Parts: sequence; C-alpha cells; structure tokens
Amino acid sequence: MAGRKLQAPRGTFDVLPDDGAARRELYRRAGSVLGRYGYRPFETPVFEDTDLFARGVGESTDIVRKEMFTFEDRGGRSLTLRPEGTAGVCRAYVEHGMHKLPQPVKVWYWGPFFRHERAQAGRYRQFSQVGTEALGSDDPTLDAESILLLAELLEAAGVREVRLRLASLGGIEARAAYLDRLRGFLREREGELSEDVRDRIDSNPLRAFDADHPGTRAAMEGAPRLLDHLAPDDAEHFAEVRALLDGAGLSYDVDPTLVRGLDYYTRTVFEFESARLGAQSGVGGGGRYDGLVEQLGGPATPGVGWAAGIERILLAGDGKLGGFPAPVYVALAGGDRRAAFALATALREAGVRTELEQAGRSLKGQLKHADRLGAKAVAIVGEEIEWKDMATGEQRPVNNVAEAVRIAVGLDA
Ligand code: ATP
Ligand code: MG
Repeated sequence: MAGRKLQAPRGTFDVLPDDGAARRELYRRAGSVLGRYGYRPFETPVFEDTDLFARGVGESTDIVRKEMFTFEDRGGRSLTLRPEGTAGVCRAYVEHGMHKLPQPVKVWYWGPFFRHERAQAGRYRQFSQVGTEALGSDDPTLDAESILLLAELLEAAGVREVRLRLASLGGIEARAAYLDRLRGFLREREGELSEDVRDRIDSNPLRAFDADHPGTRAAMEGAPRLLDHLAPDDAEHFAEVRALLDGAGLSYDVDPTLVRGLDYYTRTVFEFESARLGAQSGVGGGGRYDGLVEQLGGPATPGVGWAAGIERILLAGDGKLGGFPAPVYVALAGGDRRAAFALATALREAGVRTELEQAGRSLKGQLKHADRLGAKAVAIVGEEIEWKDMATGEQRPVNNVAEAVRIAVGLDA
C-alpha cells in the first residue's frame, strides 16, 4: 500500500536548488563584507538551556512568553531551540573567558533560528539569520560600524528601497526613571489600551509603542518619549553615533517610537526596513546591550550587534544572487559511455562546469536539454568528438580530449 504523503512542518520550508544557489552567494558576499570590517565567524549550538533565553532575552518579551520551542531532554533538563543569537554568543563569551582577549571581540554568525509564530510570507517557524556581535567596548564607532556594515551587506545583497530607523534607549538608570513615568501615563489611559498592552504595563510598558491596536496607537501619540529623557552621557553617545553615520553619508530617520522586541537593549537601537516586504517589513535590526553579559553571570561588558533575516533579505533583494556559469554539455551520440564520462571528468578537473547526458535521451533530446540548461557548448561523443558552439551554432570535430578541454577553458577565460 502506498504511504501517506508527508509534508514539512507548518512554518518550515525546503530550500530548493535555485534558492540554495542564492543563499550560498549571499553567504559568500556576507562573509566578504564582514571580514573587511574585522568580524570573525562564530558558531554556538542550535539549542541552549531554556534559562539562557529566559534571562537573556527577557521573561516579558513575546519571544519568551509565546514563541519558544522548548522541550525536555531525556534527563529532564529544559532546553530551547534558539530564537535569537545574541544570548548564545554572550553565554559563550563568558564561558570561554573571552573578556581576557584583546577587546572588542567581534564575531558574526549565520544559521537557523526558531520561533513559534503565525507562519506567513517572510515569517516562518524555522528561519535563518546572519548577525554580528562586538563585545567589550562601548565606543560609538562600534555602533556606527555595525550599522554601516549591515547597510553595506544589504546593498551587496541587492536589497533596495531601504529605510533605516534609529533611536537610543539610554542607560539602565535613566531608562528606569523614564519607564516609571511611562507606566504612570499608561495607567491614566488604561481604558483606551489593548488588553495585551494593559497586561504588560508593569513588565514591559515600551511595547505599547509597538502596538497595532488603534486605541493604543491613538493614546500613545501623547506619550512621553524616551529620547527626550536621556541622561547626558547617553545623549552624547547617541549624538556621536549620529555624527559618525552623517560623516559616512548614511541617511537614517531618528524614530523615538522605535522599540525592539528584546529586553536587553540599551542606548543605540536601529532597524532596517524595506518597502518591498509589505507587512513583514523588518529586514534586520539590533542595538547596544551593555548590561547583558553581566546579567548572564559575566563581568560587566558592553556590546552591540544586529541580526538580519536571510529569507527576508532574499525576498527584498533583486533576485540576481546565485546562479552558476553556463555549463559545457557532454552528449552521447552512439559513442562510448566511458569515453563521454572520461571527457566530462577531464573538463571538470580543468575547472569547467560540465553536465553529462545521464537519462538515455536521443541526440535531439540531448541538444534540447543542453539548450534548456543554458549550455554554452555541447561536446558530442560519437565515433569521434564533435564540438558544437551553442552561441554560433557552429559545429566542428576536435581531435581529442585535450583539445576539447583547451577550447572549453578558453570559453571560460
Ligand atoms: P518582526 O518585527 O518582523 O517580528 P523581530 O523584531 O521579531 O521582527 P528580530 O528579533 O530583530 O526580529 O530579528 C531580526 C530579523 O530576523 C528580522 O528583522 C527579520 O528579518 C528576521 N526574522 C525575525 N523573525 C522571523 C521569522 N519568524 N521568520 C523569518 N524571519 C524572521
Ligand atoms: Mg518578531
């Protein structure tokens, strides 16, 4: 009996070969841009102790409250598939005593992340992020550099119609005082707020700025703004970050309503959006998290970083990533399979992308297939080898494998 058809779980997807090529190319370009800025590759496990995210991302965030894939291992320990990358990098920084290395430590990562969200275009339950972290310095050039780096990466990926929103959340103390003021403001207007926002007046009042609920949005128009209540050194830090970006010629909108979905941010926060994405407009974002390492049991260590969604970069991109050079096609015309195989092998060893007839087609079928593959030439193996140039249609005999390889390499040059 035939088995039931299986499907990938909801919110996940298969990367089919065309997309696979684009992702590879994006990875290559990302690595090249990141390397130029002095960031080095870093990997952490795909699952971590649940406690890391509860402490590192924040109990009151959407991510921890409702988006984590959490499970018990056979020993009864609670583990979670990582929903974001910063907490794991900070955990590793502490675990390996990386504060003893020359600072800042600058790393980047690329890999899968997991959030139990409502799946839709650009929003999945398993998705991929590329991200950076720079730990061990609060120098504003690191904030500016992170932002420029992401701008450059998006440019290299062909993402257009990009807008950069920028704000500062200030330091922990001034922020605490501000949050009390905001809570007072929200309590006076409880009746106008969504249930979700009302429930989180104590735990996470900043989320009120992020609400879609019309009543909440209207009420928030008159809300006190954190940017107007920065402590002097935080205001100075933010001014310096802006001056550095101005100097680099990168345009941005200062947006006092920008809040990020993670609790750990301090000072600089930013987000890149693309008009090409529709509702899921965020391509990538990040900011400074000067208290996080200490919160995870390490020494007081400032840090700044960002993450960007690979799938959203590709959705917002110009579709020109990836692809391979046109191949040479080795066709069989009554000739010897072993001779054809040997020719294909010789071409491949010489660095020529080569396809070989492997499905028993007629010669006519093979030429059609070669055309479909965009082959630049077909080597027809019969009694002898014929070389057909697909651009000119010209066909001529070649003496041997070595000559065929010479012609093919010449086409690539
Ligand atoms: P959103 O507002 O779209 O939910 P977010 O604020 O939760 O995004 P971050 O946690 O900052 O996103 O993650 C950085 C980037 O990762 C996002 O800008 C987006 O490109 C990507 N991303 C986040 N969640 C998903 C998801 N569920 N599916 C695909 N990409 C995602
Ligand atoms: Mg989200």
